[in-house]
Amino acid sequence: MSWVFRQNILHQTMNRGFQIRAFSQTADYVISGGGMVGAACALALAQLNVNKNKKIIMLEGSPKRTIDIGKDYSNRVVALNPGSIEMLKNLEAWPTIQQNRYNPVLSMRVWDACSDAAITFQNEETPAQPLSYIIENDLVQKSLNEQLDNCDNIQVINSAKVKSYKFPDCGSTEHVPDGLVQIHLESGDQLETNFLVGADGFRSLVRQQLNIDSLGWEYNYSGVVATLKLDATSDQVNNTAYQRFLPTGPVAILPLNPTYSSLVWSMPSALAKQKVQLSEQEFVEEVNNALRSDLHQNQIVNTVSKGLGLILDSFTPSKQYQINNLPPRIIGAANRAGFPLGFTHSHRYIGPRTALVGDAAHRVHPLAGQGVNLGFGDVMSLASVVEKCLVNGAPLGDRSYLLEYETERQRHNVPTMFSIDSLHRLYTTEFTPVVLARTLGLQVTDALQPVKKVIMSHAASG
Ligand SMILES: Cc1cc2nc3c(=O)[nH]c(=O)nc-3n(C[C@H](O)[C@H](O)[C@H](O)COP(=O)(O)OP(=O)(O)OC[C@H]3O[C@@H](n4cnc5c(N)ncnc54)[C@H](O)[C@@H]3O)c2cc1C
Repeated sequence: MSWVFRQNILHQTMNRGFQIRAFSQTADYVISGGGMVGAACALALAQLNVNKNKKIIMLEGSPKRTIDIGKDYSNRVVALNPGSIEMLKNLEAWPTIQQNRYNPVLSMRVWDACSDAAITFQNEETPAQPLSYIIENDLVQKSLNEQLDNCDNIQVINSAKVKSYKFPDCGSTEHVPDGLVQIHLESGDQLETNFLVGADGFRSLVRQQLNIDSLGWEYNYSGVVATLKLDATSDQVNNTAYQRFLPTGPVAILPLNPTYSSLVWSMPSALAKQKVQLSEQEFVEEVNNALRSDLHQNQIVNTVSKGLGLILDSFTPSKQYQINNLPPRIIGAANRAGFPLGFTHSHRYIGPRTALVGDAAHRVHPLAGQGVNLGFGDVMSLASVVEKCLVNGAPLGDRSYLLEYETERQRHNVPTMFSIDSLHRLYTTEFTPVVLARTLGLQVTDALQPVKKVIMSHAASG
């Protein structure tokens, strides 16, 4: 038997002119937050055989919006790794993306503005196999939203901003608390659930109200995004992602199609404000300079690095692949905007009958394009743990299973997050010894294919 839900929220207005509290409904699962990660989580849970007759509600604070994928590219894109693409395929969200647009990244070049050091990534044995796919956030969201509409056992409630949560008391020995999680919406409506998923982004109210400590800071940096027009023709290939580490922060251009790429340029927020306000021509010139100028080159470091290069060349076979060292020249920039960047890691990903996923649990600098990939990794892990719990006959929200989810994800997320943060810190300096150390490190890593393989395989799995 499948569930068909009706939006049966009744507001009872008394004759005396005030409203008594609106309807309360109970759901097996409530997902708070319908961003990319929340929507994927609702679908992943709905697809489990053990959940076919369960009731899943997804609450999204913003109003329902129709997402039109127009001719022009949106300025917000994500680089999704093969693990995330596999998940979208399993959730049947991939066909919508395929019918619209996406671009595979076959190679990636990362280099230092202070020296000649560079590293290149490509699948050595199967160069045609993408490292990642560049897709607009809106298109990922649209593909997931369409599937949500097709699911009988999911009810999506938009304009449903949660005001507060009340969590059941969890005795020290209990595997699952007696009470349910109560959810109070700003509208006055209330719900209760056996299992709450906090997918409400980096300012997560779920995390705050669980009183979970988190480690976090604002970088006082912003990511300036834009859609870049390239000096290229439509028959040219554009499948390389470029990222250059400047002392002010990394600048990345991600290929959208032969003639367009997407910009993510991190820099101190005050500088970002200025860049966003430049004329298009000035901005384009600044992006080209950021990708090409020799202004920050350190000649001492380059001399040492050349020596190491000669030694490495005699030990390692010459490279099989050809990638342009310089990205295409930029000739236009549309839709500029800046987004604040920060780091947050929640000490716990679980609470009584509750789990956090996505940015609600962890927020990273975008320099490695890992944010939503980590969130999708959480979703896959949580769905598999919930399935195991119910198949084994344990009650939904059983703490021992939630601990399994938390451990699995923290083992993956924590090292990834701290590596990304360290990269940000390592590269935002021009201090010669540090530039020298990172230059030599990058050179050696680039020469050691097995080490690069390990890095690529970690980044591919979210
Ligand atoms: C400049 C930039 C570039 C990036 N590039 C990449 C990239 O290339 N690859 C990558 O993997 N990641 C990237 N990221 C990170 C990625 O965008 C985020 O990790 C991802 O969007 C987080 O998704 P989420 O669903 O967890 O959270 P969000 O997108 O923040 O969604 C949270 C949702 O919860 C809702 N909500 C919040 N509070 C409430 C409430 N009280 N009640 C009800 N609903 C609520 C919100 O309305 C929102 O819809 C980038 C980030 C930035 C800033």
